[in-house]
Amino acid sequence: MVRAAVLHAPGESLRLTALELPEPGPGQVRVRIAATGVCHSDLSLARGTLRQAMPVVLGHESAGTVVAVGEGVTRCAPGDRVVLCWAPPDGTCWFCLEGEPWLCEHSSDAASAPYARADGADVYPGLSTGGFAEETVVSERAVLPVPDAVPLEHAALVGCAVMTGVGAVLNTAQVREGQSVLVVGLGGVGLSVVQGARLAGAGQVIVVDRSPDKLELARTMGATDVLEAGGELAKQVRGLTGRRGADHAFNCVGLADTIRASWSATRRGGVTTIVGIGGKEQQVTFTALELFHFARTVQGCVYGSTDPLTDIPRILDFAAQGRLDLGALITGTVGLDGIDGAFAEMSAGRGVRTVVVP
Ligand SMILES: [Zn+2]
Ligand SMILES: [Zn+2]
Repeated sequence: MVRAAVLHAPGESLRLTALELPEPGPGQVRVRIAATGVCHSDLSLARGTLRQAMPVVLGHESAGTVVAVGEGVTRCAPGDRVVLCWAPPDGTCWFCLEGEPWLCEHSSDAASAPYARADGADVYPGLSTGGFAEETVVSERAVLPVPDAVPLEHAALVGCAVMTGVGAVLNTAQVREGQSVLVVGLGGVGLSVVQGARLAGAGQVIVVDRSPDKLELARTMGATDVLEAGGELAKQVRGLTGRRGADHAFNCVGLADTIRASWSATRRGGVTTIVGIGGKEQQVTFTALELFHFARTVQGCVYGSTDPLTDIPRILDFAAQGRLDLGALITGTVGLDGIDGAFAEMSAGRGVRTVVVP
């Protein structure tokens, strides 16, 4: 039995429950969780904006230590420090063979099969991970080694926010040295975009958010210009970029008006990358003439266009070398009983990443 925070239905509070977690089967690994970041997708899943089979143990941004491995496991052994990947590609589907493993058809399969039991009922692992618990069982494809120089609390964030944000810059948008970058929305992902832009050697990094605290934090991570949300964004950005607009915009919010504003703030031929997950009721409109005239690109970004097998170790190396500041993203630590409070803080736009230490 391990303790876990279980969600029984969208909109309810999480309940601390004893979870019957089976020993790992063939190809599976049991991990003692050291830390799990509270991601905005957890909040969306808890409220029912995103769907997930229930009852569920949410939490998908985790790192920990392998405690047992099932038959045939070759990628790790008990005692290994690992980060969990919530979308492990199978390596065999059409998308994987095309070199787009972030779109793998089977990377989310584990989320739709029960992995444990509580109070006599089947329980599902949130986004295939089940990180809001003392331990979890995942596929060996979902664990990647963490270098000794990186604390597990920091490594956890690489599993989702950091991989998504840094991947958006390096993989999806492929920002080049000297280019100007606009980042709209400074949560864990947005601030990771800022750090990714610094890694890419971006010339200007302009950031927008409602929170003065987050704007200041962004400055310490490489932002060159900070804008408090509410102004006329396109005009402000043109004023900072020789009247042209930014080469790249990263929308980490997912609301229609902010996507439209991000697009308008890019130069002719500029690129807007949509990183934040919006709702299906969010309609973004463009006129046919402006789509032609501005020759801009809008592109979606799933999980930072990441091949986790190669990219997660690469990001962890950046962290080990001190080229990414993961600790600065952590603005709070709670136990398994503090997750609802972390959701409330997140809804209010306070803090960047709360880490759950079971
Ligand atoms: Zn996430
Ligand atoms: Zn695949």
